[in-house]
Amino acid sequence: MSKIKIAGTNEEMKVQNVYCIGKNYLEHIKEFDKSDVKSEVPGEPIIFLKPNTAVEFDAKSVAIPRFKGKKISDDLQNEVELVIVMGKDGKNIVQEQAFDYILGYSVGIDFTLRDVQSEFKKKGLPWALSKGFIGSAPVSKVILKSGNYDAGNLKIKLTVNNVIKQDSNTREMIFNIPYLVHYISSIFGLKKGDLIFTGTPAGVTKLKPGDKVKAEIESIGELNILVE
Ligand code: MG
Repeated sequence: MSKIKIAGTNEEMKVQNVYCIGKNYLEHIKEFDKSDVKSEVPGEPIIFLKPNTAVEFDAKSVAIPRFKGKKISDDLQNEVELVIVMGKDGKNIVQEQAFDYILGYSVGIDFTLRDVQSEFKKKGLPWALSKGFIGSAPVSKVILKSGNYDAGNLKIKLTVNNVIKQDSNTREMIFNIPYLVHYISSIFGLKKGDLIFTGTPAGVTKLKPGDKVKAEIESIGELNILVE
């Protein structure tokens, strides 16, 4: 089972469920409208899950998985995301109390095999394979929530080989942190150790071996990942 570390302590936390939000930044939805994937602004959060084996704390690299000696994809893409780390179990958590259940936040990347995802979407099949592979969810140390920053208003950025690809702010989320906690806890329930990847801003891009990916969120931290 994957474990993550909490900043400023020797504590480790077991990762339980990994919820992810799709289409939570308008500019990211728009970049898909230009492609062959039909997209629209959702009325409620779009939720999908990754297995917790996808989570890797302090990962240094990522690789497209191979099966029977062959890479299963030719299109690995980056998605930098603010990750909510739950500190308490709860069901039907009201928005006003959402922060009482949050332990803190990490920087995460929701690595995506876009060609696999697009093909499975077209066929109406589940696309777990494109999002849940080993190492597809690297996360940084958990920074405890505090009064020193507002997680709903932080610069979020990703560079590839020092070129800026994603550059936004968490205030651009369509569904904010309290609403996501309220929504997910009302339907699935939330547990201590659950992660919520809150969606990515525009600027997803195809990565190639040797690329150096740096993901940063103001006040939270950074991740440096080499594409193998
Ligand atoms: Mg994502």
